[in-house]
Amino acid sequence: MQSQRELCSFPIAPSHKSKLTSAGFLITEDLKHLKPSELSKETGIGLEECLEILKLVCSESVDGSKRNEAPKPAVSALERLKEEQSLPPIITFSEGLDNMLGGGVPLCKITEFCGAPGVGKTQMCMQIAVDVQIPSQFGGLQGEAVYIDTEGSFIVERLVDIAKATVDHCNEMARLEGFKEGEITVESVLSGVHFYRCHDYVELLATVHLLPEFIKKHPKIKVVLVDSVAFHFRHDFDDLSLRTRLLTTMAQSFIKLATEFKIAIVLTNQMTTKFSPGEDSRLVPALGESWGHASTIRVILYWEGQKRWAWLYKSPSKKESRVPYQITMGGVRDIVTFPADNSNDQSDDEPSSKRQKVS
Ligand code: ATP
Ligand code: MG
Repeated sequence: MQSQRELCSFPIAPSHKSKLTSAGFLITEDLKHLKPSELSKETGIGLEECLEILKLVCSESVDGSKRNEAPKPAVSALERLKEEQSLPPIITFSEGLDNMLGGGVPLCKITEFCGAPGVGKTQMCMQIAVDVQIPSQFGGLQGEAVYIDTEGSFIVERLVDIAKATVDHCNEMARLEGFKEGEITVESVLSGVHFYRCHDYVELLATVHLLPEFIKKHPKIKVVLVDSVAFHFRHDFDDLSLRTRLLTTMAQSFIKLATEFKIAIVLTNQMTTKFSPGEDSRLVPALGESWGHASTIRVILYWEGQKRWAWLYKSPSKKESRVPYQITMGGVRDIVTFPADNSNDQSDDEPSSKRQKVS
């Protein structure tokens, strides 16, 4: 941060400039180490505006380099491709889903799972938070996860079930391959999930704002999950232009985190009904079309008949496709059907009232 730069030289709204001046904040040094809530209390400026002001005035980028330093030298497209290919994706416990995504949930990108209530978005997030910790000897990333819960739907007992199944699977593989067992335990998995509960959009924005520092301190983090990104922005907002601005800023923060720390960002989103003149109403991902550009990969989860399906709706490199999946006691899995045996379909039944078809 350039500590002596006058705050009036920043593109801050005049009304906020005068509030900052009246409260005695004149140069960037004065805002150093202040939290958005403290600045808001001192100046009477709204919390989210304070967050924006601190972001603007604080010149440190997420990797700790200064904005005023010379830009990094360009890298060739080939180097970029090689770098991306050298980063293994997060394998899930559904081979069909992994294949559809090109190997798993990719690092350096934003993947969004959209779907109606009960279809499996939270289960998918928990599965990924566990899978990212699979030891490298089994082809995993041996990483850790940040889990941001905006809805209060994170149930730690459910994470324990999924962790147990994953640990058992790894131990079984270790026995077969002659590796040491116990490289991953339920306790190690639970310790590797850094959990945040955000009760409103201000808490969510503040948490995302603080993630670069947190990830620097926990370099094993390979995925940030937000379940769901839509919740607070669908219910707390009347001012749609403010909502769009905040969502755009948050999307930029996610892109920066993904690329600078080489981690996966996994978001969930709800579905909403879209009415277009002359067309039947249909279910589409919430938060509007501009938010649709935020994610690199978009997967829509939906019910059809007795089965849950994952539909790769948007991807920069893979063609649109669909795979069925199921949720078992152990987590998200492929549907394995044997001739004349469809018992798997029945093990994953859901009240028909919850099933909604996506058109
Ligand atoms: P919402 O939008 O309401 O948050 P969601 O898409 O996040 O919904 P999830 O909570 O991920 O939905 O999925 C809930 C479904 O997962 C349950 O309805 C159930 O079918 C399945 N499920 C949860 N726990 C288990 C389990 N232990 N065994 C089998 N299926 C389970
Ligand atoms: Mg959920």
